[in-house]
Amino acid sequence: MEPTESLFRDIVEISPFPVYVCTGNNMIISVANNATLKAWDRDASVIGKPFFEALPELEDQPFLGYLQGVYRAGKPFHSDAERADLLVGGKMQTFYYKFTYQPMFDAEGKVYGVAAFNTDVTELERARQAVEESEMTLYNLVRQAPVGICIIRAEDLMIEVVNDSYLKLVGKRRKDMENHSIWEAIPEAAQLYAPIMNNVISSGVAFSAREHEVFLIRNGEPEIVFIDFVYEPVLHFDGTINTIMIIAIEVTDKVVARRNIEDVEERGRLAIEAAEIGTFDLDMNTDTLVTSDRFNSIFGFTTAVSRKKLAATFHVDDQDLRIRAHEAALKSGYLFYEARVIHPDDSVHWIRSQAKVYYDNEDKPKRMLGTVLDITEFKRLQQQKDDFISVASHELKTPMTSLKASIQILDKLIKNNSNPEKVSVFIEKANTSLTKMHHLIESLLNVSKITAGQLALNKTHFKADEMISESCDHILLNGDHSLELTGDTNVELFADRSKIEQVVINLVNNAIKYAPLSYKIIIDVRRQRRSVKISVQDFGEGIAYDKIPHLFERYYRVDSTGLQYSGLGLGLYISAEIIERHNGKIGVNSESGKGSTFWFTLPVG
Ligand code: ADP
Repeated sequence: MEPTESLFRDIVEISPFPVYVCTGNNMIISVANNATLKAWDRDASVIGKPFFEALPELEDQPFLGYLQGVYRAGKPFHSDAERADLLVGGKMQTFYYKFTYQPMFDAEGKVYGVAAFNTDVTELERARQAVEESEMTLYNLVRQAPVGICIIRAEDLMIEVVNDSYLKLVGKRRKDMENHSIWEAIPEAAQLYAPIMNNVISSGVAFSAREHEVFLIRNGEPEIVFIDFVYEPVLHFDGTINTIMIIAIEVTDKVVARRNIEDVEERGRLAIEAAEIGTFDLDMNTDTLVTSDRFNSIFGFTTAVSRKKLAATFHVDDQDLRIRAHEAALKSGYLFYEARVIHPDDSVHWIRSQAKVYYDNEDKPKRMLGTVLDITEFKRLQQQKDDFISVASHELKTPMTSLKASIQILDKLIKNNSNPEKVSVFIEKANTSLTKMHHLIESLLNVSKITAGQLALNKTHFKADEMISESCDHILLNGDHSLELTGDTNVELFADRSKIEQVVINLVNNAIKYAPLSYKIIIDVRRQRRSVKISVQDFGEGIAYDKIPHLFERYYRVDSTGLQYSGLGLGLYISAEIIERHNGKIGVNSESGKGSTFWFTLPVG
């Protein structure tokens, strides 16, 4: 043995890597180091045996073939990872080897054997396969995910991976996305979202958005959609960002559905606001009350207050009624009552409270949902109407009683055929009563015409002074008053003459009635730029300033008891309606103790 050969054997022997040498055509294993025997799980007896005999399980594996190939061709053979199934520990096991088969030449340059240098790369290979598998799993996961995923290379924003859900979400074809830059693929989103993505890349901080309203051209159609998405930077091991992952999910349906609900709620809320309904929600187990702003203001508060405080706002006379209504509600399931509340400024307000009671599984009341309404105005009108009916019947009764009396007396006088002078006096009285009744009924009929919108005008041209003096002929002056006509009396008007007469009669009659001690009543006619103003001035008691705004309301009477003056509270209301229909104005200047000037205007030209 040559010294080099013994040196070679020593080196081979101590090598931690399997090294063996096969010689001759039959590939006799002439050298096999410990690492080889260990890898093969064989003992030293394999040395000197042909390769196929030493390792029979490799029969249908390519290794003998490779060795023989090298032996014949005289050229080395290399593999980075080759699978080898070996009988180790009594069972077939799979290994991976990286190896170089090197031809060995003799002094003549002829191949006499093959040296095999091997590295066990099983672990490495397993790890690589595991990575590949997990990459595959991840890839499949991405592909099949119900959320849109798009993986973008950070350096040039090139799309590396995009799944079907993402394609569907953005409405693009795979070939227009893959290997294109993201903003080339979705140009319509670039303006808004490119700066955001750039920021994610430079800062390394993810960006997430909820319900972003995004404009997209999906399958050629422009659309507005709502999307939840994140731009997630994926960090390289050295801390640089090499990939951006977009995860996106479309939430348009959800947003639209919610907006619809919000719309309905908003409409409900507006309806409640418009109707000025206050709402409340009472938890009957804890006695906690949630109230709307309107509810609070109906009770005179600017913020929510405790139930106890609310209960205390009720008029003393109505507190029992409220308690009883609540007791009854527990049984019937419905709450209903009308009561007065006193605001912090001491004003009295009528409220109507209505609610429904909800019960738990054991039929115990658990919740009450309801509304309150300020019905002060409604109550006032109701009261006015009630008052009116009693006043109207009273007003009709007075002339009727006197008419009845006159007729009875006339009956007697005629039967007795006596005193013809008295007969004419009582006929006159009966006439007066009838005229009064006629006026009252006329007023009532006018009111119903006005409310039915049937007050028709029949306009003609006439002189103001003629109309006024004719009106005054109808007025039964009792000698305590004198009428004076002043101003541009001969001005011409274009209006419904009989209706304007009615207005003048009302105003003059009121002056006589409510200013009995005023001797003079002045009727003034004044030509103005675009209208004629007619005023009726008395020098009576006048009207308190706080009553003035109500004078022209239906049924309004300053002295509502009707003790001092009779009247239905309709004259001024009807007058105002007539003037309004003529597009004129009506008003009063009055001062307590000094008298009143009622006036109206009629447009001319
Ligand atoms: P009525 O038919 O009861 O007189 P009106 O509508 O004509 O009703 O008048 C309404 C109220 O206006 C009256 O109740 C009265 O108190 C007040 N009023 C009307 N005219 C005068 C006046 N010239 N002076 C003082 N008060 C007046």
